[in-house]
Amino acid sequence: MVLKGDLQVVALAGGVGGAKLVYGLAKTLPPDRLTIIGNVGDDLTLYGLHISPDLDTVMYTLADVANPATGWGVAGDTQHMGDMLRRYGEMPWFMLGDKDLATHLLRSQWLAEGHTLTEVTRRLSQGLGVSQRLLPVTADPVSTMVDTVELGILAFQEYFVRHRWQPVVRRIWYAGIETAHISRAVAQAVEEADIIVFCPSNPMLSIEPILAVPGMRERLRARKGKCVAVSPFIGGQAVKGPAAKLMREQGIEPTPAYLAEYYGGLLDGLVIDQADRELAGQVTNLPVLVTQTLMMSSEDKVRLAGEVLDWVGRL
Ligand code: GDP
Ligand code: CA
Repeated sequence: MVLKGDLQVVALAGGVGGAKLVYGLAKTLPPDRLTIIGNVGDDLTLYGLHISPDLDTVMYTLADVANPATGWGVAGDTQHMGDMLRRYGEMPWFMLGDKDLATHLLRSQWLAEGHTLTEVTRRLSQGLGVSQRLLPVTADPVSTMVDTVELGILAFQEYFVRHRWQPVVRRIWYAGIETAHISRAVAQAVEEADIIVFCPSNPMLSIEPILAVPGMRERLRARKGKCVAVSPFIGGQAVKGPAAKLMREQGIEPTPAYLAEYYGGLLDGLVIDQADRELAGQVTNLPVLVTQTLMMSSEDKVRLAGEVLDWVGRL
């Protein structure tokens, strides 16, 4: 597809699901037309290091160094550091590859020197040769928290990685979000965007902690461009991870109609999977594009990105 003029595209993305569409967009658009706004609610401090798993997944994807088997981490990475931790009697539950570790070391060092997460992410991306702009939604600390039936309150990665998202979640919140600010770069990117795409990321764990940063929803509502979301649900299930389970635990059915309602006034259109074709009619407030949203191969990612951009251009 050919994108006319100098149209600017902004993608909101969490981790693995978001990065799949980001990959397709990056292969479709010139790098200076694509900005990714990333989630920081998953960030954690481990062994004194600041780790930003969602930003890294997107950054490694854009740098073409992502591990194809997992979708996160660096391709061909080794686990010598983890082995050494075990010799000390540690039971590492959050895998940090040896190459991956360099990212966390530098991020932590640069943050300690007083640089913002926005600046640190720019320097890391630049170092890996990424020429698209990757912006954490905020440079302020935000931590996704869950209250679970079995284990009480857990920090996000404790729930997600350590307990493999098995506990039943009663409540989700984003600690620190009330006092967080969207960065100036994020505000400007949204303002200037001709097309905004919510990638098929977890609505409650990846997209909401982006939207809930004060100022973000207002900026999106004031957009000049078109905004569409790609559903992460196929046939009422998440392709991977807890998105559908988590929503059902909150009493919500993960349907296109729910997403259209939930994202409310922010969207101009919703992209859903062909498996959900018969549910499209339940979406009464938005145009719907029904297509194959399952992205298994690189070709799937590029094709979906092209279809979404083409469709937005016709809205
Ligand atoms: P995480 O931060 O690594 O959990 O990743 P995201 O929040 O960005 O993405 C998780 C979501 O991606 C899940 O809800 C999945 O259903 C969705 N997802 C993963 N792969 C695909 C895909 O190929 N197509 C669609 N439509 N959704 C996907
Ligand atoms: Ca994530």
